[in-house]
Amino acid sequence: MSVLQLDKLVKRYDSVPVLHGIDLTINQGEFLVLIGPSGCGKSTLLRMLAGLEDITSGSLTLDGKEINDVPSQHRDFSMVFQSYALYPHLTVYENIAFGLKIRKADQAHIDKMINWAADILKLTPLLDRTPKQLSGGQCQRVAMGRALVREPKLFLFDEPLSNLDAKLRIQMRAEMKTLHLKLKTTTVYVTHDQVEAMTLADRIVVMNDGIIEQIGSPLELYDNPINLFVAGFLGAPAISFIRGIVQLQGAQLGVAVPSSADNEQGAFIELPDASSVVVGQELVLGIRPEFFQLEDAAQHNHKQKVTVKFVEAMGAETYIHGLMCGQDIIAKTNLRLAYQPGQVIEVGVDLSALHVFDAKSGLKLAN
Ligand code: ADP
Ligand code: MG
Repeated sequence: MSVLQLDKLVKRYDSVPVLHGIDLTINQGEFLVLIGPSGCGKSTLLRMLAGLEDITSGSLTLDGKEINDVPSQHRDFSMVFQSYALYPHLTVYENIAFGLKIRKADQAHIDKMINWAADILKLTPLLDRTPKQLSGGQCQRVAMGRALVREPKLFLFDEPLSNLDAKLRIQMRAEMKTLHLKLKTTTVYVTHDQVEAMTLADRIVVMNDGIIEQIGSPLELYDNPINLFVAGFLGAPAISFIRGIVQLQGAQLGVAVPSSADNEQGAFIELPDASSVVVGQELVLGIRPEFFQLEDAAQHNHKQKVTVKFVEAMGAETYIHGLMCGQDIIAKTNLRLAYQPGQVIEVGVDLSALHVFDAKSGLKLAN
């Protein structure tokens, strides 16, 4: 069931267009993540949902009723921002209670809700402290508590974890997920962190420059990005892009990758399915890091020469940064390979996992 429906939502500041007509359905109970580079319009869109920004044109519908002009305080949404904006002179208890007091909830209800939220967010021992006696992560949980006790129809989060250090961010990410599994409140969550998007979202909306590039589950987007932008945006380490031109060698259509200082022959990469390409077409091949094969490379059907630039040993995984015909690649392996910079290695490529894009349009071809 849909909760919020966005139809051709447009935002202009004076005459400057920021959102170009956003169509999106947000379903009951889902965790929807908006992701995109800085400045693409994520916060603006979230603020329009919250009623904190006017809608220039288009319609926003909640449970079948247009709410374009319904003021923020009547929308029954709770928003948590990147900066927690806690009241410094109020205790944790008072900060969380603030919204309920304004709405003149009775004291018994306030106590009940605060005990419930404090329990979920592990804030019970901290209720008498003031914000300056709390860590960043604790402040963030207080901001969450304030949103939670209102029992809103919708949570709106704008990069709520981006002020936290890396370790805490990962911990809070897990807590957000647990909380959502428990409460099932419909959530729209803005981030520019693709790991957060992949791990939290039921569906991800990839935005770029005021438009939606693609919507899908994390793995749908990872496995089947519709264009170069989405392919490059999701995935860590990033997908490698190899540019070349379609050629016929014997009876085989493939991509000829021009020669370079590190590979004077250049390369020829066969296309498993060449039904949607023509000779002479410029292509970009996308290879995810796990589809480079470093184990027994000589055994693999398709091999390429790679010049190692440097190696990142993460413990469980090792990332090899290198050049293939002068083009940057990143390969990932579970092996602990101690390659030296400058070393030339042979790497298998799993051609069945190639993403093939038209270089001019950036669109993914049907392989
Ligand atoms: P994001 O959250 O994706 O980083 P924003 O929604 O904050 O992006 O901003 C999108 C674009 O709108 C940016 O180019 C920004 O400069 C512009 N913008 C945001 N707020 C205003 C404003 N109040 N007046 C004019 N331009 C704005
Ligand atoms: Mg923003």
